[in-house]
Amino acid sequence: MLGIYLIELGVFLIILLILKLREKSKVKENGIVIMDGNVSFKDHLKTNKKLYVILIVLFVCLIICQYLFEIPQMTLEKTNIEAKSNEDIVIPYTVYHFNNITDEVTVDKGSIDTQKVGVYNVKYKVKTLFGTYNKDFKINVVDTLAPDIILEGGEDYKLSYLKEYTEPGVKAIDLNEGDLSSNIKSEREDISDTEFNIKYTVEDSFSNKAEKIRHVTLIDDIPPVITLNGEENTIINVGQAYTEKGAKANDAKDGDVSSNIEIKGNVDTSKAGEYSIKYTVKDSKGNEATKIRVVTVVKKEATNNKNSGKKGVIYLTFDDGPSTNITPKILDILKRKGIKATFFILNYDNSKEYIVKREANEGHTIAIHGYSHDYKTIYKSEEAFMNNIVKLREKIKKSTGYDSTIIRFPGGSSNTVSKFNPGIMTKLTNKVLANGYRYFDWNVDSNDAGGAKNSNVVYNNVVNNLNKNRANVVLMHDFSGNNKTLNALESIINYGINNGYTFEKITTSTAMVTHNVNN
Ligand code: ZN
Repeated sequence: MLGIYLIELGVFLIILLILKLREKSKVKENGIVIMDGNVSFKDHLKTNKKLYVILIVLFVCLIICQYLFEIPQMTLEKTNIEAKSNEDIVIPYTVYHFNNITDEVTVDKGSIDTQKVGVYNVKYKVKTLFGTYNKDFKINVVDTLAPDIILEGGEDYKLSYLKEYTEPGVKAIDLNEGDLSSNIKSEREDISDTEFNIKYTVEDSFSNKAEKIRHVTLIDDIPPVITLNGEENTIINVGQAYTEKGAKANDAKDGDVSSNIEIKGNVDTSKAGEYSIKYTVKDSKGNEATKIRVVTVVKKEATNNKNSGKKGVIYLTFDDGPSTNITPKILDILKRKGIKATFFILNYDNSKEYIVKREANEGHTIAIHGYSHDYKTIYKSEEAFMNNIVKLREKIKKSTGYDSTIIRFPGGSSNTVSKFNPGIMTKLTNKVLANGYRYFDWNVDSNDAGGAKNSNVVYNNVVNNLNKNRANVVLMHDFSGNNKTLNALESIINYGINNGYTFEKITTSTAMVTHNVNN
């Protein structure tokens, strides 16, 4: 603005000079023009006083008017908006007119579409005391942002040295153009045997470039392999010494690390039970391997069918009960004869619970045959068998308060029906002992569940196989409808009494009578 004022001042001075020059050539005195060029400037001013006053007033008016009607000064702080950014689309501006009148401005944003790259018009309207000014600006919606490269699996990627590198996944997302993943270029740069970089580059259609590097490190995360010396799972008898045979350990990177193996746990050979020996080893990278050896200490009397146990004793045992039509009648006979027997029972429902309670109340031994008798189910695994015992043991405890630890394997410990799971009977006969159970087979078979046609056959099968020189464990059944045994029972008891046998129930201190294991 100052420039314009100076120009105006200059024009004023020129007018003044012209007037003075005119005066030189046309001097007036008392209205008569005298041709005399030597009029002093002082005289000149005196003569033209009015004219000068008018000129000065005009000049001042001009300056004031110009100042008042000055166009407001508007400045935009920027003219670019990043496309699709969340920026406010009102471009910041300031307006001066005498002073800051930014607040007096209204903006017509027009058709700015920040979603689309392009040039747009914005109209600004400024109101001053003396009128309204319009000003148009060009606003550019631009794309200057590079796409974003996203590395799945991270920039610092660790990979087992034994594995082949496969791309863990990479994406490129551009604010304007969306998914540009298919445009990504990748390049592998080897650094060393155990390190390399993957460089990813991508460009959007406005030539905005992005680059990202994935640093891949091959690591050793493979633990050593422990091999136990001797049998992995050992069975020893109570009192027998346990010798720690140790283990070997080999690591794919470090080689033989056997000397680093730590062995924890001990075996109390004076007490039956399952003991764990834990072997732990670490390789130089701290990868740990562990292995467990289970040592089973068992208390086992080798009685089998030999002449052992209490001589001349008959242990009457009844399997597969209780039943409502046979068991109570058997209990009646035993009561009348004053004889205690052993019941190897199966699961029972509420309607039969009173029979189990009666067996307990009348002093008989309630022993476990199993919750289920289904060979396929119970001999499927050690776990399945133990669950089958524990489930019934808990039920009996709930019904009678009696904790039973005497069992008979369905089919006997010599059974071959379990051969679908090779070796299971060998494992189970040891496991039950290690878990505090005692198991009983039989050495007198009434055959009442097999070929015995009537009660006479049952009677003969029993009495003909009794032996005075050993303990006699008699196998019978009290399942539903077994009248053969029911009808033979009293005669068998009478035979025993008349021939000098005594009758006892099996207890936890009874010598075990067991078969040879065939599986
Ligand atoms: Zn049975």
